[in-house]
Amino acid sequence: MFGNSPVLLAEFLNISSKTALSASFFFTLFVVFVFLYVVKKLNAISNLKKENFSLNSSLEKLDQQAKIILKGDMDLKLYQQEIEVQGNKLNLLRKFISSSLPILNKNQLFLKIDNLLIEKFGFKKGLLLDFDNLEQIYEMNFDSFETKTIADIIFKNKSYLQEKKILTSESEICKTLSARLNINNILICPIKTKSKVYNIFILAGLISSDFIRESTKETFLILCMYLSKCLDNIELFEQIYQTKESLENKIKNRTKELAKSLKTVETISKTKSDFISNVSHELRTPLTSVKGFSSLLADEKFGKLPQEAKKRLEKVVENVDKLMDIVNTLLDISRIESGKIEINITFDDIVPLIKNIADFFEPQSHQKNIDIKIDAPENFNVYMDKNLIERVLTNLVNNAIKFTPEGGQIIISCKDTNQKALISIADTGFGISKENLDKIFQEFYRVKDMEKRAIKGSGLGLPLVKKIIDSHKQKIWVESEVGEGTTFSFTLEKRKNE
Ligand code: ADP
Repeated sequence: MFGNSPVLLAEFLNISSKTALSASFFFTLFVVFVFLYVVKKLNAISNLKKENFSLNSSLEKLDQQAKIILKGDMDLKLYQQEIEVQGNKLNLLRKFISSSLPILNKNQLFLKIDNLLIEKFGFKKGLLLDFDNLEQIYEMNFDSFETKTIADIIFKNKSYLQEKKILTSESEICKTLSARLNINNILICPIKTKSKVYNIFILAGLISSDFIRESTKETFLILCMYLSKCLDNIELFEQIYQTKESLENKIKNRTKELAKSLKTVETISKTKSDFISNVSHELRTPLTSVKGFSSLLADEKFGKLPQEAKKRLEKVVENVDKLMDIVNTLLDISRIESGKIEINITFDDIVPLIKNIADFFEPQSHQKNIDIKIDAPENFNVYMDKNLIERVLTNLVNNAIKFTPEGGQIIISCKDTNQKALISIADTGFGISKENLDKIFQEFYRVKDMEKRAIKGSGLGLPLVKKIIDSHKQKIWVESEVGEGTTFSFTLEKRKNE
């Protein structure tokens, strides 16, 4: 008001104009100073406001981040809890599996489902039904009305359940059950394989939480899948067991039948041996007498005979000889068979025996221009009844000469194999056809071959040979090619049997 008018100021304050001038000057200076001060403060305030604003936005950001961190922390805790719950359930499953793994019986397996298991799953009630007849197998805290209601609903939805893995509270069936039984939180799981539903497992009413955790659902599903695998295995095992049982029974029955048949065969065989032995024995005496008298007659010891009569008598003597031979061989076979002959096994060199036989047959083989070769070491000790093995060699070499055409060859060999001595008589004769090979050891069997018809024999040589080798508990076999030749081989023990 007085800034531009020091005169007015002087008048107003009643002071000199000089003083007023200087006062006005200082006042103006003061005003300018205040103005500048105010401007500076306003600037500072504006800066402060800006800083405040940026601080606020930073704080907001921090707040948001804190909220995110807090939420993350809560989520993490929830996850941790979930993982812990899942871990506990998996542990529960692991224990259940390890304790039920060796079980191979359905009832025993179902005994493993108990109240503790249901409680550890976090449920108040549990029920296991047979899927076929809906009979109750296991039950916990369900009354009979509830069980029947559940069975009725399952029965109506059988084909639907066959297709399902697990039903939770959101499913129509669980909702219906909840409404009828006034129970919340229900899980229904069919225990099944691809081809068959075995059971229906129901859990209901949670003990502590309000909702069924995902982990609970999954673990329950795993439990039911495991149970179905167990039931499958049990069924398979039962099938195998039954097959094994029936097989064992069959084997037992067959063994009994065989033992019975064997006894019958043994009885028949003994009767036959006894009969042959008796008949042969009875025949020997009259035959000896026939042979004696006919020989004397043929030798004209009782006087000269007409030429024709002498010729016939000589034929009689020849045939009586054959008959005696047959009777004696039959008697030997039946004696060996019935164990009446005492077998006298000694550890002896078989090579001289072979040489003797070859020498013995030399004239016969020479007549047919058949070469007999021996392929044997200097000595070869074996366990044998010398007399009986001599008869074996005699029969086999005799046959080889009989059934080998002129100019052929026979090799008698004696080889040292790993376990045994192997004696073979090989010829380059007519050979034996495949269909006859396994029959030639039968009594009286002779190959009806045209070429061989003219060759005399009784069909008793090889049966006797076989009986002798059997009595040594050794093996004899034949290999042959028609037109190529035949090899008979048998074994003898070279070491004492323990
Ligand atoms: P036999 O010689 O008295 O006829 P065997 O019992 O010794 O009786 O032989 C039975 C049959 O086996 C003979 O009739 C013959 O057909 C056949 N056989 C045996 N040995 C030989 C052989 N080395 N070569 C060909 N066939 C043989």
